[in-house]
Amino acid sequence: MSKDFAETGQFQTYLSKIGSGLDEFLKFEHPDALANGSNWREKLNEPIPQKGVGIEAVSEQLVTDVIANGSAIVRPGFTSFITTGGTTASAIASAAGSIGSPQRYTLNAFNYLEELSLNWLAQMCGVSRMKGVYSTGGSVANLIALGGARQWAFEQVGHDVAAEGVDRPTRIYASAECHHTIQRSAGVLGLGRRSVRLIECDEQKRMRPEALREAIEQDLAANILPVAIVANTGSTNTGAIDPIKAIGEIARANKIWFHIDGAYGLPGILDERIAQLYEGLELADSVIVDPHKWLGACVGVAATFIRDREILHRAFTQEPADYLEGSVDHQDGANAPSHSMDDFGIPYFDFGVELSAPPRGVAVWAMLKEIGVEGMRDRVKRHNDMAQRVAERVRADSRLELVLEPSLSICCFRYIAPGIDDLNTFNQRIHRRLVRGNEYIPSTTKVDEVLAIRPCFVGARSVPGQDDGLVDEVLRLGDELVQELM
Ligand SMILES: *Cc1c(COP(=O)(O)O)cnc(C)c1O
Repeated sequence: MSKDFAETGQFQTYLSKIGSGLDEFLKFEHPDALANGSNWREKLNEPIPQKGVGIEAVSEQLVTDVIANGSAIVRPGFTSFITTGGTTASAIASAAGSIGSPQRYTLNAFNYLEELSLNWLAQMCGVSRMKGVYSTGGSVANLIALGGARQWAFEQVGHDVAAEGVDRPTRIYASAECHHTIQRSAGVLGLGRRSVRLIECDEQKRMRPEALREAIEQDLAANILPVAIVANTGSTNTGAIDPIKAIGEIARANKIWFHIDGAYGLPGILDERIAQLYEGLELADSVIVDPHKWLGACVGVAATFIRDREILHRAFTQEPADYLEGSVDHQDGANAPSHSMDDFGIPYFDFGVELSAPPRGVAVWAMLKEIGVEGMRDRVKRHNDMAQRVAERVRADSRLELVLEPSLSICCFRYIAPGIDDLNTFNQRIHRRLVRGNEYIPSTTKVDEVLAIRPCFVGARSVPGQDDGLVDEVLRLGDELVQELM
């Protein structure tokens, strides 16, 4: 007889073992100091085991070969992506959830914290009149919001699009700087990627409201059904915040659904110095935010907020399943113990595209309990300050050029030197050397065909000093390359 996995009483031992490995990994100075060379692929590339080695050996190898060769994303100097390393509170809460309540449904403490944390999050981000639902990330959160928009737009013309399908040409208006998941959502929703009309931006990369107004007029004249207007509060590329009040008023005037993609930048509203840029948020019909970006949750948590959650129910409900319907008594749930299975709790599975899904609110709850709104505000301001510090250094140095004024915690700049005609290639080469050095890892981006070095400060482990450190490195490497070209 082959052995099944060894039974209870092991979480304490093995979670703690993994924890030591992670603590080690997070404090490493340079990845090579910890990772055992470059042959980790060979170590992991084994044939499928016929006989198991047991939990002891598995946890051992998790620490030595897997965790030790983990991702650069969690390094403090990593500023490439907007997703970051999860904080401890988020990680332990997610682990507790995945073990203690594998599903987010059925009324229990984890299910309860879904709604509580969504309400906290809505309150913190200035959309407290909205109800929410969690999903895996901004991509799905946008899809859910636009699914709601599609449902609503078609209901206005007397058509149940979720049941009957799309029967006429539609349009989604989005900033030219929108995240490409807007197009993908349009594709998945049967509207077609090409139904997304990109609206021109100003030099600060904010959507131009007049261009939006003109586009809507043309489409209405051509009998195209508008489904949504999508604005950014914090574009992925540069952190640009669209003029949401002006855009929201155009949406109102034309009775078009107004969606705000705040996956990255919605928490920027916590920084009172720029909070006025979020004026008009109350005009939104739906808003998304990714706790796994600025708030520091482990990847896999986004929230869609919507002014009327029932629309999501109509947009995404599944056909009823007999085995689920028969198993609960909806009348009796209020006073039942949490493990009684008397009540499904709030049916989040009907507000989106996932049935099985882990509870995610527990991580958001844990992070907010740990440092509070004030702690989050301090972090957001710290990161915005870091982008401003980079901009300040750039302005003060003739070898550097600011490509775009930072709105949030992203700063786009480049090295310039007299006599170099292809600055894009030159800055690309600086960037290659920079990331190979592996302490400061920003990304690059293009702003109007100009290649810029783009640090995005969002990681909970990013602290002041890394702004100066990054600029110093860019200057050192730029000077070095200039020397080599002489
Ligand atoms: C990151 C991002 C997304 C996509 O979110 P994921 O969590 O990566 O799926 C969508 N919109 C914006 C503005 C983003 O920054």
